[in-house]
Amino acid sequence: MTRLRAYYSADYAPPVSPLFSRLAVLADALRDCKGIELCAPRQVDPRLLYGLHDETYIDHFLRGEEPLASSQYIAWSPLVRDAVLAMLGGQLEAAQHALTHGVAMNLARGFHHALWDRGSGFCAINGLALVAHRLPDKRIFVVDCDEHGGNGTEEFTHRLPNLYTASIFGTRFGCVGSARSWIYPINVTRDGFGPYAQALEDVAAQITRCAPDLILYQAGVDCHENDPKGRAGLSTQQLFERDRFVFRMARRLGIPILFVVAGGYQDASILAQLNGNTARAALEVFG
Ligand SMILES: [Zn+2]
Repeated sequence: MTRLRAYYSADYAPPVSPLFSRLAVLADALRDCKGIELCAPRQVDPRLLYGLHDETYIDHFLRGEEPLASSQYIAWSPLVRDAVLAMLGGQLEAAQHALTHGVAMNLARGFHHALWDRGSGFCAINGLALVAHRLPDKRIFVVDCDEHGGNGTEEFTHRLPNLYTASIFGTRFGCVGSARSWIYPINVTRDGFGPYAQALEDVAAQITRCAPDLILYQAGVDCHENDPKGRAGLSTQQLFERDRFVFRMARRLGIPILFVVAGGYQDASILAQLNGNTARAALEVFG
């Protein structure tokens, strides 16, 4: 790898919600990093979303018809819709880049709570399931280390036979596990980092058995000890060790990996540092 490619455009970060605008702070921080190349994707073609989600839901989300249009709990506007479509475009371009070059970053949320027939938990369209839907001949394994379990992705494993997911979480968010969804409830504050490290080892064993074509890493930082939504309680250093473990595993197994920034609810400058650490872990392993 010459430089780590990170997909981002100004459309990702409209000033309508801190959940979006914080991505601009991260992009500004990464723009100054010589090992990283920012790359602006095109919006996803909305027609590609039919067949992944319920047709009625996609119609309502694209046109702004309530209540479905705001069912992710962010008030719908054309800017919100276009931000989601831009991030999903980045997701598909980043997946292709990772398949060719081994690693890629998308400065987006993974939208792992989005369900088949509606949005949920600030997630409108499931950007992880979208990759599996668009690459039906590839096995896609999601490693979800967000504070919250990836309930939407778990639901999509029942619809997409090439989608696998493992969630290590502090907050279950409806995740119950299934034939292709492995779950690991964790509390580092109470139990130390040992069980978290063991969960990562277990996920690595599942990935070895599954032999996927692509790993999607949901590198959420809302499981940080200072995050207002965080219960898992990882320190900054433990987050870095988590990220490095995942990247080293992908490299050791020779499986391409695409990572997204996912959740985080602290000040945008703090989140930019934590997400920047994830990019630095990738550079350390792949650079
Ligand atoms: Zn989260």
